Amino acid sequence: MNEILLMLPGPTTADPRVLQAMSKAVVNHRGDEFGEIYTETTKLMSKTFQTKNDSYILTGSGTSAMEAAVSNLVNRGDKILNVVGGKFGERFADISKMHGIESVQLDVEWGTAVTPDLVEEALEKDEDIKAITMVHNETSTGVAAPIKEVGEVMKNHDALFIVDTVSSLGGDYVDVDKYHIDACVTGSQKCLAAPPGLAAITFNDDAWAACEKVEDNNYYLNMPKYRANGNKDPAQTPYTPSVSLIYALKAALEVLHEEGLENRIERHHTAAAASRDAVKALGLELFPDEAVSSATVTAVKMPEGANDDQIRGTMLNKYKVQLAGGQDHLKGNIFRIGHMGVINYQELAITFTALGLTLKGLGLVEDAGAGVAALANHYIKFKLLEKV
Ligand SMILES: *Cc1c(COP(=O)(O)O)cnc(C)c1O
Repeated sequence: MNEILLMLPGPTTADPRVLQAMSKAVVNHRGDEFGEIYTETTKLMSKTFQTKNDSYILTGSGTSAMEAAVSNLVNRGDKILNVVGGKFGERFADISKMHGIESVQLDVEWGTAVTPDLVEEALEKDEDIKAITMVHNETSTGVAAPIKEVGEVMKNHDALFIVDTVSSLGGDYVDVDKYHIDACVTGSQKCLAAPPGLAAITFNDDAWAACEKVEDNNYYLNMPKYRANGNKDPAQTPYTPSVSLIYALKAALEVLHEEGLENRIERHHTAAAASRDAVKALGLELFPDEAVSSATVTAVKMPEGANDDQIRGTMLNKYKVQLAGGQDHLKGNIFRIGHMGVINYQELAITFTALGLTLKGLGLVEDAGAGVAALANHYIKFKLLEKV
């Protein structure tokens, strides 16, 4: 086995069926055959978002859908509340500013989560806020934000609730309609386990009503055009879509729903709990508070006496396991283990075997197998969930 095991928070390993789907002949994107595939894929997306509303597939990575949401829902000069607790929260603020929207930032310390009270307070302080952006799973810090609870606050406010579920949809609980989310975005290469290159977006009626009042602020990612073309028969996209990637996304969503959304989310939570136990058993410290830690990526403090190259470099070069590093001021201070997509017990067993051996090699742990021993406590749970 020469392949490198990707334990990254995206891109994740794709099921062979997904890769195979991508190799099918490309068809006319304005014809019946593609229209049917596109419609089925958007339906599967809505099922995954848990919404009765339509979804749209964008040719672009997750960020394109973040930009589509913000630029189509808030007018230039209007105010948006951006919750920022990491790299991706910051990205929403940057996108807002670049589109001439006035960004009011609600900062939380990286590694912690915003609370519903803080959101409510910020909204009540400024009645002009038209929308709020939140990142459900802040991949850069390994924190899951309480979108369900914030949704309860948003239900009583006119401001739109825009949520990034790029690294959580298909791996953690996201129920767009029940959580009062007005606009939700995701990407193909994280928990959905399709190749990188596509994003998906859904708007509810309130979002569409706001969208109609927004002056066009985006040519390529123009949501009214996506809607008009999606409603054609056969369904289409405004510009040439990535036909092959849509084949792949459709297959990935079929794999997901064969496993079952609930089962898949439980599997991710089990992988997260097992990873946290294994990390602690190896004498390492988790970066975020366990109460708000992510179901899809585990962020670990760099142990004293080791640097990024010694940990991640050894993991990759010697043991062929690729972990992610920290970003911005967390670079060199944390490393991240992605356990999203089609990850099971065996991938975690390889990862923690390698991490134990790496730490042992650096003289940082006595028992190289301590992580795997902790993992073993979760074996039965995995076996009950394992369908992929
Ligand atoms: C990966 C990711 C994105 C999008 O990144 P792309 O590189 O554009 O796909 C957005 N938000 C979060 C939380 C992510 O993890």
